[in-house]
Amino acid sequence: MARKVLVLGEVRDGALRNVSFEAIAAGKTIAEGGEVVGVLLGDSVTALADKLIHYGADRVVVVEDPKLKNYSSDGFSQAFLAVVESESPEGIVFGHTALGKDLSPKVASRLSTGLISDATGVEVEGGNLVFTRPIYSGKAFEKKIVTDGIIFASIRPNNIPSLEADESRSGDVSSVSAEIKDLRTIIKDVVRKATEGVDLSEAKIIVSGGRGVKSADGFEPLKELAAVLGGAVGASRGACDADYCDYSLQIGQTGKVVTPDLYIACGISGAIQHLAGMSNSKVIVAINKDPEANIFKVADYGIVGDLFEVVPLLTEEFKKL
Ligand code: FAD
Repeated sequence: MARKVLVLGEVRDGALRNVSFEAIAAGKTIAEGGEVVGVLLGDSVTALADKLIHYGADRVVVVEDPKLKNYSSDGFSQAFLAVVESESPEGIVFGHTALGKDLSPKVASRLSTGLISDATGVEVEGGNLVFTRPIYSGKAFEKKIVTDGIIFASIRPNNIPSLEADESRSGDVSSVSAEIKDLRTIIKDVVRKATEGVDLSEAKIIVSGGRGVKSADGFEPLKELAAVLGGAVGASRGACDADYCDYSLQIGQTGKVVTPDLYIACGISGAIQHLAGMSNSKVIVAINKDPEANIFKVADYGIVGDLFEVVPLLTEEFKKL
């Protein structure tokens, strides 16, 4: 059954986040041969529309308003609902990012529809659209089908591969006007902590440190390895609690959920709350002195040893490539 699917293009610092392209790929599957319509919300975002089309959107609808300069759930939900009203979609896809986690339940409740949140896959099986999503902190996966209403899903970044960009693709870009009113929060300015290197939530490679790094300086060899690999540095809560690094690096149940291609866990024991944030990584390498450490149960490759010896050796070897 061909459907019209709206896909939110998420913009940060003037650029589209990769999850937007993954959401288009999910939207294509949900559309089952129908139309995928990219949606851009902001104060100056029209220039990004072509990129959504290159990645597979058939056309793009833009809502531009100075009140959408900074994200607010009030403002963005009003703008998105105006697009829903003008397009009457059968499907909606957001990224399961901080923005998507905040906006999707609000939009779903306004539309009186369900929401499949944090989906890691979607495919057509036996004539049904089947979504996969992790449950019990990633210990199991459930499969869901939607039996009525709008098919609304938020997808976990780095799980559904985006399509190849094709710069020869073209499509219509139109605008919808929305009356953005009664905002309960007005964001005047965003002061963001400067982060070094690659964005953790979208990184393809993460080198992560735990209490085993023993100090803030102990993170230096991990940072060097991450730099050589073009990856980001992450941490366990143990390392954050011990003040070895900032909480913005925390991965796990109460930190960020990541799904990189390669996760290198250094001096991390593998507590269930940590595994909840990284066990879906495609390849996991664990470096730990303790051969009984729980992290080895989820690791594809385990190195029993002192991280201060192993990590510099890895860095030297990767430098040769
Ligand atoms: P430890 O458990 O102390 O492990 C350190 C490891 O380093 C050990 O395995 C040791 O063998 C190894 N090691 C020591 N020295 C070396 C060396 N030189 N070379 C190699 N290996 C070495 N934790 C998270 O990570 N993320 C979360 O989001 C999170 N949320 C939580 C939520 C709740 C409600 C609760 C109760 C806990 C949460 N935790 C979370 C904490 C979690 O339970 C663990 O306490 C924490 O993950 C442990 O961190 P760690 O593995 O770095 O430290």
